[in-house]
Amino acid sequence: MKTKWGTCNPDNGSVWFNPELAKKNPRCLEYVVVHELTHLKERSHNERFVELMNEFLPDWRARQEELNTAPLADEEWR
Ligand SMILES: [Zn+2]
Repeated sequence: MKTKWGTCNPDNGSVWFNPELAKKNPRCLEYVVVHELTHLKERSHNERFVELMNEFLPDWRARQEELNTAPLADEEWR
């Protein structure tokens, strides 16, 4: 899984994050970290993925919204 903010390789369990995230609100950073780690359990953005996100970070949608609307965010990130 590769996005602007993070990359996750479930095959070897590695996770990479965009250093630009350091400029973001830690709430958003935490969301991206949890998102990528959730991909280690579920590769795609399916129902199970959403369920896991709800479990790990109940307010992840608000954080996603914040990340996408924050200054410097020039593209949508899900
Ligand atoms: Zn993802």
